[in-house]
Amino acid sequence: MALLWRFSLLYANTWLCYIYANIETPTGESNNRGIMKVLKFGGSSVADSEKIKKVVDIVTLSTENKFVILSAMKGITNALIASAKKAEVGDAVYKELAGEVRERTLATLGELVKSEPLLAETQRSVEAMLNEYHDILHGVELIRECSLRSMDLIMSFGERLNCTVAAAYMNEAGHKAEFIDAREIIRTDSSFGKGSVEFDITYELIEKRVKSMEGVGIITGFIANSDEGYTTTLGRNGSDYTASIIAAAVDADCCEIWTDVDGVLTADPRVVSTAKVIDRLSIEEAMELSYFGAEVIHPSTLIPTVEKDIPVIIRNTMNLDAPGTVIADEKTNRDTSITGIASIDNVALINVIGNGMVGMPGAASRIFCSLADGDINIIMISQASSEHSICMVCRQEEAGRARACLEKDLADAIAAKSIQKIEVREDLELIAVIGENMKGQVGLSGRLFSSLGKKDVNILAIAQGSTEKNISLVIEKAQRETALNAIHETFLG
Ligand code: ADP
Ligand code: ASP
Ligand code: MG
Repeated sequence: MALLWRFSLLYANTWLCYIYANIETPTGESNNRGIMKVLKFGGSSVADSEKIKKVVDIVTLSTENKFVILSAMKGITNALIASAKKAEVGDAVYKELAGEVRERTLATLGELVKSEPLLAETQRSVEAMLNEYHDILHGVELIRECSLRSMDLIMSFGERLNCTVAAAYMNEAGHKAEFIDAREIIRTDSSFGKGSVEFDITYELIEKRVKSMEGVGIITGFIANSDEGYTTTLGRNGSDYTASIIAAAVDADCCEIWTDVDGVLTADPRVVSTAKVIDRLSIEEAMELSYFGAEVIHPSTLIPTVEKDIPVIIRNTMNLDAPGTVIADEKTNRDTSITGIASIDNVALINVIGNGMVGMPGAASRIFCSLADGDINIIMISQASSEHSICMVCRQEEAGRARACLEKDLADAIAAKSIQKIEVREDLELIAVIGENMKGQVGLSGRLFSSLGKKDVNILAIAQGSTEKNISLVIEKAQRETALNAIHETFLG
């Protein structure tokens, strides 16, 4: 019975894709080329051989044309980074960390693939990659330097190893599958650590590659290639983004992100135990939630799919009974005044204070240009109408650099005393309350602030955009749990 239920849920999902696949095109023709699905499985879904088997079960349950994007096994990207950092300072512990990556990969391969010559062939490819990884670490140890470019190359082994093993297992299990290294098909600029995707060339490369693909494509998430041929990455958690890039390139009917929770929840379940699954999210709501820290999807994920009107569905690999969250370009009806809460840890507040800024045109522009030139990402801005101070929020690790940029670029205003102080306050938390229903709701901010006041949470800065779909506030990091639970209880409890 349970099995039947699971099948019917998967069928319902496929049916949703089918509906999207047969939507009339703007010219009125029906798009009947068959369903095309992109499925992405995150690190927690491919943590060991048993989980990889489960992933292959999900992939092979239905018969659509499929592209499967996989992350590295859970913890491997962190281990790769740690090994590189140890090698950089000449700490021999890097060899142990690299040894763990080797052992885990070979053990998983041994548990999944038994038949020859497939096992020997896959072992050869995996060993070649592991040896290359080891040689690169040795190089890092010798020159005592690991640039962002080298780090991207080192991190790429996680997805490459995992996809090689998973593709071999799928073939062993009798399903034709082909390993595809995303560096062949995704092009970025040379911003190592977080490459900016060059969409035209990427879409061309994907289209060309897909034509010669045999069976299911098992594609490495997260990694890409720069124009000069160097390995780049799309930023931590970037495999979701890979999936949406592929989905947009092949004009897929849906893009499924399979993870370890039942969908997008009303708050981070690790902090708010009463958080609930949101069954449908508008694109704007999902973008806001991910931008403000709901790590269940990478913030850039919806950019490619929204252009092609492709729905994104978040599902739980370990709970097929849960229908998940559908993110699509549509109005959602809900009976709560807010949709969800997200938060970003470890932010800093930069306060530029000066009587001379009052009524001075161009003051804000100088501050923001200075921060932009210093490559500082501003997450939130707030200015009181007295114009006496402008406050901005950035990631804590960028705060020192931000202060240095401002002190240098505003030196004349500081000397002339029109700016008195540049204050930086660290160890803060940014909380964002998000929802389409928030627009025009009288008294919502009052309820929000009094819910925090009742729990003695002090608010250091507030911002609300004119769309009224997001209120952001900054508090002490130590009060994060209290604040998130208080807001959740008030609006979604
Ligand atoms: P994956 O390995 O599948 O990429 P991630 O760890 O990147 O998974 O993202 C899933 C995790 O995101 C969940 O386990 C959950 O703890 C966390 N998370 C944070 N905020 C939310 C939210 N609003 N909804 C769902 N999950 C969230
Ligand atoms: N493996 C990469 C990371 O851990 C990418 C991803 O999992 O999405 O960040
Ligand atoms: Mg993720």
